[in-house]
Amino acid sequence: MEPIVTRFPPSPTGYLHIGGARTALFNYLFARHNGGKFILRIEDTDVVRSTEASIKAILDAMEWLQLEWDEGPHYQMQRLDIYREYLDKLLETGHAYYCDCSPEDLEERRKAAMAAGRKPKYDGRCRDRGLTAGPNRVIRFRCPDSGTTVLNDLIKGPIFFNNEELDDLVLQRSDGIPTYNFAVVVDDVTMNVSYVIRGDDHVNNTPRQILIYQALGASLPRFAHVPMILGEDRTRLSKRHGATSVMDYKEMGFLPEALINYLVRLGWSHGDQEIFSREELIEHFSLENVGKSAAVFNPEKLLWLNAHYIKERTPESLVPLLEPFLAARGLSGRPQDFLARAVQTLQPRVHTLVEMADAIKFYLVEEVECDPAAAKKFLTPAMQEPFDKLIAALDALDSFNHENLEAAFQQVVGELGLKLGKVAQPVRVALTGSTVSPGLFEIIDVLGKETVLKRLKAARDRM
Ligand code: GLU
Repeated sequence: MEPIVTRFPPSPTGYLHIGGARTALFNYLFARHNGGKFILRIEDTDVVRSTEASIKAILDAMEWLQLEWDEGPHYQMQRLDIYREYLDKLLETGHAYYCDCSPEDLEERRKAAMAAGRKPKYDGRCRDRGLTAGPNRVIRFRCPDSGTTVLNDLIKGPIFFNNEELDDLVLQRSDGIPTYNFAVVVDDVTMNVSYVIRGDDHVNNTPRQILIYQALGASLPRFAHVPMILGEDRTRLSKRHGATSVMDYKEMGFLPEALINYLVRLGWSHGDQEIFSREELIEHFSLENVGKSAAVFNPEKLLWLNAHYIKERTPESLVPLLEPFLAARGLSGRPQDFLARAVQTLQPRVHTLVEMADAIKFYLVEEVECDPAAAKKFLTPAMQEPFDKLIAALDALDSFNHENLEAAFQQVVGELGLKLGKVAQPVRVALTGSTVSPGLFEIIDVLGKETVLKRLKAARDRM
């Protein structure tokens, strides 16, 4: 069997988009599932719009998502000699020719053709002029005038194109740089790519590429065009729908495994399973189960998955991921094991690391900031006596285990003939500044005796 080779060839004209990340993921998973190779290639021939910063942003995002490539990154701008070699072949065999039509002339003839009711495509003027290399000359592909080109798409089924409809496309611009449709074919041929899995916005490019393969006498890869990702209003996913950059999701406190799990389900399914480990994805991924219709981006589902993965992780592994968010809030500098214990109490309660960083604040500050409404409602003079008793009871404890704490609280409320809830909520406000938090004994356990007593006394003083 031929080895399976897939590739992801982003153009570095911006960040890694959610849609691009899904394409990369499908190529990665298909290669891994089949024991094949996954190539990363940077399509930087648009020299005006390509930037180093974009290359870095794309590589960072690929690394963050752990989409490890086996070969590359290749850079098209370092492969100009190879494209030149293949162009020479096409020129020699008459599949390509030089053209010196100026953009103004082309535009004029295009308009005239439209006015005369003809198709506005290149009219073939330079096809047989026998031009050779020279300034301001492009190289065009001689497209067959008749016949049909078939794209046997693995997802969409066969799609037929009339060659007559296709233009004599430019293969090399006058600055000597190849165009996308040509470079992509040469790259895929020379890198032995056997599966081209990409967004279906490229379906219309594919017949042109197939004709170039044929002119080069190269065998075709299989093509799989994946339907677009839409926003909830069913228009193509864009910034209007929210963040579209992979790294924005990192900054919003998403875990890479949650985003991966989310992306894979945008267009692929395995029964009704929703949660997949990386190993399961590699085991089950197949192109047969990529859907034919566009997937709709659903931010709530992504949040749900992120909450799931936050719960799943060990607290120790979340701490380093949380630290940049703490630093941004001026909350760094606490020992790792303390943070891990605080994190553990919050894992079941947050959807993102941003929420976690906000929620963990009360553990880390010197003095809690009390929500004024909560203070007014719960830190009342009626609580002075219960707090005095509780402070004394807790102070007398040697160890703050759950059992001891429970007994101390029960003893105090018992003596005063109160319900536990009556005292618990004011204590929560005193310790956290708010009425919503993890379980009271969990908080007390993490904060430790000294801090707990200090906060109870501070609250007692303001009653
Ligand atoms: N550079 C192209 C893009 O980013 C690659 C398309 C392809 O996979 O052939 O859309």
